[in-house]
Amino acid sequence: MATSLQISEFGNPNLEPLLAAEEIQRRIAEIGAEISRDYAGKNPLLIGVLKGACMFLSDLMRAIDLSLAVEFMAISSYGTGTRTSGEVRIIKDLDVAIEGRDILVVEDIVDTGLTLSYLLSNLESRGARSVKLVALLDKFERRLRDVPVDYLGFKIPDHFVVGYGLDFAERYRNLPYIAILKDPEI
Ligand code: 5GP
Repeated sequence: MATSLQISEFGNPNLEPLLAAEEIQRRIAEIGAEISRDYAGKNPLLIGVLKGACMFLSDLMRAIDLSLAVEFMAISSYGTGTRTSGEVRIIKDLDVAIEGRDILVVEDIVDTGLTLSYLLSNLESRGARSVKLVALLDKFERRLRDVPVDYLGFKIPDHFVVGYGLDFAERYRNLPYIAILKDPEI
């Protein structure tokens, strides 16, 4: 029987599967249940960081059994390369005030931590009641700034990964699984 690893880009020699779609979905169900328990009686605001977290956010919100709201932000990251520039810029800001709200920032991956340490302190300065971070992936070996990941999907080794929302030069976001991109030059 075909597995979901074979759905998209199957046979692309530049991709080495790392996390299967089923594995990702199982972990998201667990995180969703944990958040539902931790935020029982609250009305959290999920802030998805575009574009990489779009798939994670859409699956995660369906795994959270609470009344919640969703907003999006876009911040600068890699452009078309595979290493962060260290420069952080808000490209799309929130459309709502977040004073007094319980915020859950939903991010695809924490790498150096530069982007998120900027974003989390920016959101805290707007008077949110609480700001917590949900990240699908943690490339902990490359951390330059300490970023507390409150809810984590998977720790992964230092490889450039694509799929499940993550891109390389805008390609591969549609894969339902996560793969290591072996050679970004190809
Ligand atoms: P940081 O500021 O933590 O170094 O970088 C965070 C951002 O860099 C992520 O939101 C993501 O957009 C991008 N990034 C970091 N590592 C990877 C990776 O392995 N693959 C992809 N596609 N993007 C990454």
